[in-house]
Amino acid sequence: ASGYSLLRDPHHNKGLAFTETERDSHYLRGLLPPAVATQQLQEKKLMDNIRKYQVPLQKYMTMMELQERNERLFYKLLIDNVEELLPVVYTPTVGEACQKYGSIFRRPQGLYISLKEKGKVLDVLKNWPERSIQVIVVTDGERILGLGDLGCQGMGIPVGKLSLYTALGGVRPSACLPVTIDVGTNNEESLKDEFYIGLRQRRATGQEYADLLHEFMSAVKQNYGEKVLIQFEDFANHNAFTLLAKYGTTHLVFNDDIQGTASVVLAGVVAALKLIGGTLADHRFLFLGAGEAGTGIAELIALEMSKQTKIPLEETRKKIWLVDSKGLIVSSRKDSLQHFKKPWAHDHEPVKDLLGAIKAIKPTVLIGSSGVGRTFTKEIIETVASLNEKPLIMALSNPTSQSECTAEEAYTWSQGRAIFASGSPFDPFEYKGKVFVPGQANNAYIFPGFGLGLVISGAIRVHDDMLLAASEALANQVSEENYDKGLIYPPFTNIRKISANIAANVAAKAYELGVATRLPRPANLVKYAESCMYSPVYRSYR
Ligand code: NAP
Ligand code: MN
Repeated sequence: ASGYSLLRDPHHNKGLAFTETERDSHYLRGLLPPAVATQQLQEKKLMDNIRKYQVPLQKYMTMMELQERNERLFYKLLIDNVEELLPVVYTPTVGEACQKYGSIFRRPQGLYISLKEKGKVLDVLKNWPERSIQVIVVTDGERILGLGDLGCQGMGIPVGKLSLYTALGGVRPSACLPVTIDVGTNNEESLKDEFYIGLRQRRATGQEYADLLHEFMSAVKQNYGEKVLIQFEDFANHNAFTLLAKYGTTHLVFNDDIQGTASVVLAGVVAALKLIGGTLADHRFLFLGAGEAGTGIAELIALEMSKQTKIPLEETRKKIWLVDSKGLIVSSRKDSLQHFKKPWAHDHEPVKDLLGAIKAIKPTVLIGSSGVGRTFTKEIIETVASLNEKPLIMALSNPTSQSECTAEEAYTWSQGRAIFASGSPFDPFEYKGKVFVPGQANNAYIFPGFGLGLVISGAIRVHDDMLLAASEALANQVSEENYDKGLIYPPFTNIRKISANIAANVAAKAYELGVATRLPRPANLVKYAESCMYSPVYRSYR
């Protein structure tokens, strides 16, 4: 290969870090200025540049350009500066990037499968340059973050999620495939936007939708086999539950919005027990919001309770109550309820709002998952705090502006008694001389390690017990020092170690369940997971 093409290949390019010998042997003489830089120096230069930008989207574009130019350096930056760069390559900045994707779009970063490709999806997959794929993240763009229907421009999400699979979970970048399925969009603004990159039509639904999805799922299995993980991301809830149930028995599928969220929140709840006391089954849970997040979390908590107590799932579910936009979910509403709410329709008289539900149910744990901000008012928090010595309050709605309450409000209104965690990050808060550190129930704690665990064990199906295994591993990483500050999640800086532990626990469960195909089972799964993790350090070319 010519030196020129080497410089243009992001998988191999090292820029100024090519050594003198490499410059001689790979026809690079004269194509680079004389200086030779280390990867550390390149990293320093780029971080300096990124820190100078005031506009988050500018930081995002700098990172995307780096990914297109020098992949290893991109991951080196992301891994070494994870807390600083996560909000750049993922939420919240990625949301803005998706909204403007049509204008900032430079090069395709994943596969686009639209209704135009119907009947040819297998050929489309074969056009992708990489043959051996381990993780696919796919969206249909209908519910991107809290931003709604962004259609084809949702591509930023699979791209961002997969960069976290590599940076946080150590899955090789070449084994990751971002996919956007384009069946149209109902976003009027996009349909009118001259720079919109997707199909200019309203969303196909029903059979037409199901057929394209089915063709995609079949083609993936045919092309990559049974061990490829397909992560559904940011589908609207009317499709998300159906797809997960439909393909859960034939493919290795995972929905991060439902299952990843459930696993990370369960981990926080389990960790919080150290602070609030009791076993899981001793607690009563009340959710505001009964969608993908709320019902997914509720189900996993009920399952863990059932495992711990041997009480049937139908019974443990009764310790969990949910409020949706119409009030408390109760059995008298059964007929009009969406199917995923039905397990939560317990016997109770109708209650129309959250405050009424708190007074009726007397929860020990209050979880916000409605997407609507400022709903945990002073009165709500004071009421929960009057019922409990140490209430656990989780305000999960994103972004920060939609959080049910702020950390400051939770601590102040509960007089420093609440254990608080949230979906969006909040700074530590000092109340009456004590510093409280709010935890962030970030899905990025779970899915990279979870996926790595599936990949290294060669798992062919996802089982709910693996989600429990992931939660357990995460909760175990919370230290005494963290607990002292009221923190129920471990610091993000150790994420690769956390991911390796999660991967090991998930893989162990896959072997136990007989769905692992990588045999024999490695003796030390943590060590094995670590040894499988991608390193972004440059290779030398001889
Ligand atoms: P979703 O499937 O659309 O569900 C939203 C639920 O909230 C629905 O049950 C809806 O009620 C209910 N709701 C809406 N407005 C309400 C109101 N004013 N009062 C009471 N209930 C209301 O959305 P989702 O995927 O579950 O996501 C919900 C939120 O959770 C988002 O903000 C998301 O960012 C956040 N989230 C956080 C994490 C995390 O922290 N790791 C992970 C995932 C999601 P109806 O059913 O009656 O319409
Ligand atoms: Mn999502």
